[in-house]
Amino acid sequence: MVIRKPLNLAKFKVPKGRVIVLAERCKECGLCIEYCPKQILEYSEDYNEKGFHYPVVKAGMENECIFCLFCQEICPDFAIFSEKEE
Ligand code: SF4
Ligand code: SF4
Repeated sequence: MVIRKPLNLAKFKVPKGRVIVLAERCKECGLCIEYCPKQILEYSEDYNEKGFHYPVVKAGMENECIFCLFCQEICPDFAIFSEKEE
């Protein structure tokens, strides 16, 4: 199947985000890691003070966040969000 490229594609720019994790709030449920559409998150090696691994951005993927805010929406503990980079 051939998928047509939209003619006005150049008009649209994919936004960039900077991921911020409030590690102490995290309970290691893994939702943000599982559902990030860019798959840029993984568990930390470290533990937070509650004894959980928290999400970190994978090495080399620091510029891959597309500011979709899905992690922010899905996190039950308000422990992760993204800030738009201009
Ligand atoms: S804002 Fe979107 S792309 Fe960025 S880390 Fe969250 S879910 Fe992934
Ligand atoms: S969704 Fe929230 S609580 Fe769950 S692993 Fe991600 S940051 Fe931690």
